[in-house]
Amino acid sequence: MRPDELNSLFTETDALEGVGPKLMRPLEKLGLTRLRDVAYHLPDRFVERRAVADLDEAGVGENIIIALTPQKHSASGGRGPFRVIAEDEKGNICTLTYFGRASYTAKKELPVGEKRWVAGRLDQYGQMLQIVHPEHVSSDSSSLLAQACEPIYALSEGLTQPRIAGIAAQVLAQLPQLPEWIDSGLMDRMEWPAWRDALLLAHKGANAKARDRLAFDELLANSLALMLVRESNRSQSGTPLHGDGRLRDKLQLPFSLTGAQKRSIAEIEGDMVQDAPMLRLLQGDVGSGKTVVALSAMLLAAESGAQAAMLAPTEILARQHFNTLVKMAAGTGVEIALLTGRDKGKPRESILMGLLDGSIDIVVGTHAIFQDTVSYKELALVVIDEQHRFGVGQRLMLARKGRRAPHTLAMTATPIPRTLTLAQYGEMDVSRLDEMPPGRQPIDTRVLSVDRMEDVVGALSRHLAGGGQAYWVCPMVSESESDDIAAAEARFAALAEHFGDDVALVHGQLKSELKDAAMEKFAGGEAKLLVATTVIEVGVDVPGATLMVIEQAERFGLAQLHQLRGRVGRGSDKSVCLLLRGDALSETARKRLALMRETQDGFRLAEEDLELRGGGELLGTRQSGDTPFNIASLEQIQTLLPVAHNDARLLIERDGGLKGDRGEAARLLLYLFERDWGVQLLRGG
Ligand code: ADP
Ligand code: MG
Repeated sequence: MRPDELNSLFTETDALEGVGPKLMRPLEKLGLTRLRDVAYHLPDRFVERRAVADLDEAGVGENIIIALTPQKHSASGGRGPFRVIAEDEKGNICTLTYFGRASYTAKKELPVGEKRWVAGRLDQYGQMLQIVHPEHVSSDSSSLLAQACEPIYALSEGLTQPRIAGIAAQVLAQLPQLPEWIDSGLMDRMEWPAWRDALLLAHKGANAKARDRLAFDELLANSLALMLVRESNRSQSGTPLHGDGRLRDKLQLPFSLTGAQKRSIAEIEGDMVQDAPMLRLLQGDVGSGKTVVALSAMLLAAESGAQAAMLAPTEILARQHFNTLVKMAAGTGVEIALLTGRDKGKPRESILMGLLDGSIDIVVGTHAIFQDTVSYKELALVVIDEQHRFGVGQRLMLARKGRRAPHTLAMTATPIPRTLTLAQYGEMDVSRLDEMPPGRQPIDTRVLSVDRMEDVVGALSRHLAGGGQAYWVCPMVSESESDDIAAAEARFAALAEHFGDDVALVHGQLKSELKDAAMEKFAGGEAKLLVATTVIEVGVDVPGATLMVIEQAERFGLAQLHQLRGRVGRGSDKSVCLLLRGDALSETARKRLALMRETQDGFRLAEEDLELRGGGELLGTRQSGDTPFNIASLEQIQTLLPVAHNDARLLIERDGGLKGDRGEAARLLLYLFERDWGVQLLRGG
């Protein structure tokens, strides 16, 4: 139960004065459904303005507040701007310029002969001083002078700066005082303000200490919650599994394991013989060979007379894993089944029977394998592929499925930097497959301007004519998914005109049967070219495809590009990846694409990506979309996360039940950041 102190913060935003259903829509778009969300909707930046007595005092390019008296309105004919010629106290002339509809309000707000206070940016236009679209006009000075440092908030359609500022002000005026959850020594050392003050300050001006404190809160909440999961896991009893190796011995692999695979398998076995359930993440780049490591763990479970379940994020992947596992495990005699949402009727019934009576040792599937209607005889191991698709909450749900907590092996191919691993998977032990199986050919990566589209289609033509297969990736970039789908469909149509029936299309809005059909057509070699949005990002394995074209490559993050590129270079043939870029590239985008050319090491790309994005960050721009954080910026994550993690660890060591004063405050923090699943795990919590 959420503590009462937080009730006001979790009140819906439409309880505020002047916020009705109409305003709720744009607010919801920004995620501002509750007062708490508004409080944490920190300004992106601030406009600082200087009040000047006259124009002589002001510099061109400066944001000023000044008293001006309109002398003349001048509407140029047709589409030209509307101009107000105005004079300062000394008789210097400044023109206020308006375009379009804004002229109507300007006419009323700036009557000739009446002094007005005007805020805006002073520019020079030829010999003339001007302010284009003054941001504020007022007949009294005090209201404008209060805007000397004006917060600029992220908006959505239907909202204006004054509106959102008004809403924020209402929320800030009623913030409760909360007890301190940060270690007092740390507070002193960092000279951080208390929670409420920090919020007030962060809305009022660029205040790094306030911002850091608020970011730290978010990081601390996350670390605490993950650590509580870890602790609670430790105290649970699982099923120690002592496999005798009889199934694993029968495994006939056409290759020998890499050192990293052997090490990871040993780490996993070391966990699975313990009483406490395993909670381990297997991190390994695309193609690093995670599947065989997972299979080895699942065979160990089967040897011990228990069952294993492997969860994949999509049906395509579940099917692919199933096929791979069946092939790999052919000589072992284990019973492997596939269960997805598509299975209905008799086939489904028989799988459910097999899971219940234990005749199925290993089941692979989508989340269908954990529905209430599915019962296991003895589920002892859960493997979760592409872990990043599932939140911590879901992971916890899975853990409740067995009578005893099953061992959990999570796998991810998303190479993330070490700090972010801590943030996302802090409750788990980590095994890294940092060594690729031998014999991989490097992928020849080239960056090309989109102007060379004809050359690209030519190269693609030759590639397909030579019997090769290829991917064509269209980005998901616009606000609306349907626009992106339309773009992908248009590209598909254009390429189909060229290549006829050889082309297949997959995107996220296709029915899963159609998606699978297209994928199967491509995987079976019937289709030569697969046009796709990022739905192919994860896991798809078609070794015959050795060419990939990625459109608008600059729109993707490095990690995502790396994932996509990982679809090629899977066979023994040389692979090529063409990154098509637009003309106007930012410096960061240029560097990113250059890095893609330079290296194929996913862990390195991840670290560099974080550097590139972290460094270039402006105040409050939320580029941390791939992190579990809304407030902490990448830079703050880098510097403050280790501190938060340490602080969380110390707190749990001293007061694991969160019962002391600071512990109680920390509970509030967990609720505030909706990491309360952490609290639920506390006994009597
Ligand atoms: P991941 O799931 O980590 O992306 P996979 O498990 O799908 O990678 O393995 C990629 C490919 O490498 C598969 O074809 C697999 O059979 C092969 N493979 C795995 N381990 C080795 C190894 N040690 N030596 C050679 N090939 C391997
Ligand atoms: Mg895989």
